[in-house]
Amino acid sequence: MDKRKILIVGGGIAGPALAIKLVEQGAQVKIIEARSEAEMNEGLFFGISPNGLNVLSGLVDISPLYEEYVPGTLRFYNSKGQRIAELDASYQKESYGISSIQVRRSAISKLLQEKLISLGVQVEYGCKLMSIDYRETKIEVETSKGRLTGYDLLIGADGIHSRCRRLIFPDAPKPVYTKMLSTGAIVKIPGWEEASQAIDMTFGREAFFGCSTTNTGKVWWFNNYDWEQESRGSELNLRQQHIKKDLLELHQKDQPKISQIIAASSNLFAYPIYDMPALEKWYTAKVCLIGDAAHAISPHTGQGASLALEDSAVLANCLAMYPDTGIAFSRFQQLRVARVAMIIAQARKIGRAKSKPNPIANFFRDILLKYFINMEKKKMHWVYSYDANKEVV
Ligand SMILES: Cc1cc2nc3c(=O)[nH]c(=O)nc-3n(C[C@H](O)[C@H](O)[C@H](O)COP(=O)(O)OP(=O)(O)OC[C@H]3O[C@@H](n4cnc5c(N)ncnc54)[C@H](O)[C@@H]3O)c2cc1C
Repeated sequence: MDKRKILIVGGGIAGPALAIKLVEQGAQVKIIEARSEAEMNEGLFFGISPNGLNVLSGLVDISPLYEEYVPGTLRFYNSKGQRIAELDASYQKESYGISSIQVRRSAISKLLQEKLISLGVQVEYGCKLMSIDYRETKIEVETSKGRLTGYDLLIGADGIHSRCRRLIFPDAPKPVYTKMLSTGAIVKIPGWEEASQAIDMTFGREAFFGCSTTNTGKVWWFNNYDWEQESRGSELNLRQQHIKKDLLELHQKDQPKISQIIAASSNLFAYPIYDMPALEKWYTAKVCLIGDAAHAISPHTGQGASLALEDSAVLANCLAMYPDTGIAFSRFQQLRVARVAMIIAQARKIGRAKSKPNPIANFFRDILLKYFINMEKKKMHWVYSYDANKEVV
């Protein structure tokens, strides 16, 4: 690749992953990130599956991730605490070279940031994109820290509420609030330190609850529940006691372990879950969206980070292959759009199953899930076996 000057907006997962690839291809890259360096530790944990891990391991040494993690095996329980099915993830190692895990978002972020430093990539923290202008063949942007000029390309990796998306496509659909919150916490509970080797998912009477104990003896838990009023993350932060009370009520008839975990937690994290309608186009002549900015996905399938990593590999390949940016961006969307849409559709289906507990459906679910779960391996094969690095450009 020629020495193009590329500005990446967003230092989450997709932005840094793409930056590493582009710098290795010879481009000159700068990242601007709205959060401060300290705020980059925000967030809890998420799942990352073979399709994402195989991209990540091509960028950084991923062994530090196993210092604190939970294997991706899923065990399902009904509200009484009876195990109704298990989806073992260990088979994935043989099939895909690596198995799904749950890790702290900040652990992945740290690995990517360290690699960026070693490559000499400048990341400007606390620097928010405000507007985009074009001057002859170059891009200029106004940021909260001043004006940046002389860029050949701009990549919008600025997440679900992407300002970049709003700037280039003012009429694009906005994320739609699903009237559901994702909540969770990380907590140390005496007597619960033994690593659980799986994520325990409970179909509670009124809400869904997942928990596990990491290899470092911490309990990681999350819950999804109905929350009518759309609220910002910062407002939800102020309502932690309210949320905790709600959660205790919602799970009071479920296996008692759940209430014990919630009661022991003091620092709850809550964020609204959105559904992002499909965008017709992900790019303009000089600007391209990737990751959540292009196709945000709800957390229900645990594919958000993996898709963002896949995007970074495919877009880097397209830019290396096609010197004409328009062709590179168009090929990128073409290669990604169907896959992303199918995974988003899967996530929507799972989200619906979590939000409407119904006693008759629950009865059949308890009996049948263990039979259906075996089909899951086959059903997920096309998701996990995808090798973004080898995507035919
Ligand atoms: C703070 C935070 C915590 C999260 N925690 C979880 C979690 O616990 N579990 C989970 O499943 N998913 C979580 N997510 C979402 C998850 O990281 C993404 O769905 C997924 O990794 C896709 O990555 P992405 O790089 O496309 O977007 P993101 O990871 O969302 O990264 C986008 C980045 O762009 C930055 N940004 C936004 N606007 C601007 C702007 N105008 N100028 C400059 N920078 C901007 C944001 O600060 C963010 O760092 C979290 C996201 C964030 C931002």
